[in-house]
Amino acid sequence: MDMRTIGLIGGMSFESSAVYYRQINETVRARLGGLASGEIIMHSVNFEEIVALQKAGRWDQAADRLARAAEGLERAGADCILICTNTMHLVADEVAARVAIPLINIIDETAASLVRNGARRPLLLATRYTMEHGFYAERMRRQGVEVMVPDAGGRTTTHDIIFDELCAGHVKNCSREKLMAIIDKARADGADSVILGCTEICLILDPAHLPLQGYDSTTIHADAAVEFALAGTLGRQAA
Ligand code: GLU
Repeated sequence: MDMRTIGLIGGMSFESSAVYYRQINETVRARLGGLASGEIIMHSVNFEEIVALQKAGRWDQAADRLARAAEGLERAGADCILICTNTMHLVADEVAARVAIPLINIIDETAASLVRNGARRPLLLATRYTMEHGFYAERMRRQGVEVMVPDAGGRTTTHDIIFDELCAGHVKNCSREKLMAIIDKARADGADSVILGCTEICLILDPAHLPLQGYDSTTIHADAAVEFALAGTLGRQAA
């Protein structure tokens, strides 16, 4: 079986889409060897438009915008869809319903990774939408994971670091310290792990160097795409 084609809906922000692109290709090369790289099609949207819809609470319009991108990726030959942002998984089910190919859900993949390691009470660092709307915590709960979120001040700090700095290409040491303080507090309050639940947070925090076991949603999601793309390919090579 040939490698399957990965369809990415990116641009939210492009800073994290670049991480997906590199991570997928590096993992394919490590797995297959030589100069192997992924079969990838990306539809990168104008993030300014998406942010305006988020702020206006027009999730219906945002869902339609992303669903049209997914339909285009399917027509172009993608075998699966990834929405390269946690926040926009608020509309993932609507997007998935508009295509026949599978949508690899970042929340499900992250939850599965936590459960495999016995983590059940993670701190969720994410945008205000992801931390407060309920869609994320509810989907995690279905897999037996009960997420904690920072207090109101910590949620504002995290949200602002994501949109004002990371999505705009700025990584600041003072912001890293603020996020580390939020993680320290959550550990004292009983968190057993921390989810980097925004696809840009890996730009400022290294999940291997945190006071709690870190789960980077970007890496987990990109790795799940590679697993899907290579299913069947590796077996044939080994034979
Ligand atoms: N990439 C971010 C996330 O994973 C935030 C950008 C957005 O609002 O889509 O949630």
